[in-house]
Amino acid sequence: MLAVFDIDGVVADVRHRVHHLEPPKSWRAFFREAADDTLLAEGARLVTELATDHEVVWLTGRPEWLRRTTAEWLAGQGLPGTELHLRPERDYRPARQYKLDVLRRLASRGIAAFVDDDSDVIDTALAAGYPAVLADWLPRDPALRDAQDRLGRT
Ligand SMILES: [Mg+2]
Repeated sequence: MLAVFDIDGVVADVRHRVHHLEPPKSWRAFFREAADDTLLAEGARLVTELATDHEVVWLTGRPEWLRRTTAEWLAGQGLPGTELHLRPERDYRPARQYKLDVLRRLASRGIAAFVDDDSDVIDTALAAGYPAVLADWLPRDPALRDAQDRLGRT
């Protein structure tokens, strides 16, 4: 069974780079600084706990070009799991659609838990029958919410 985890706002503290989503918006700057995120203790604790009897899979709205940075960051933080799903190039669908799509592809392996900090993503996953849990330990910035929900970029 899989434990599927989002990254930003779940194990990675994005607050230091959210200002790049305010005008003048710079997506590249926002994502480029992902290597400097600090670890969120609550998320790290939960993923470590679930990793004892589940396979951890990462599901992020980060773009595919951030794969290496993201993989190195996860390993550097001592987090388990090496399977990493990132948003394909030019896929600008709302996060809830993109992530539901990936969950459907993973479903045959059994999904024991799916943890994300976006309540729309969680609602969509629950409605589709997945055991989704809202990560609520980091307050979501309005600029980030807009980016994820309306612009489909993270
Ligand atoms: Mg997130």
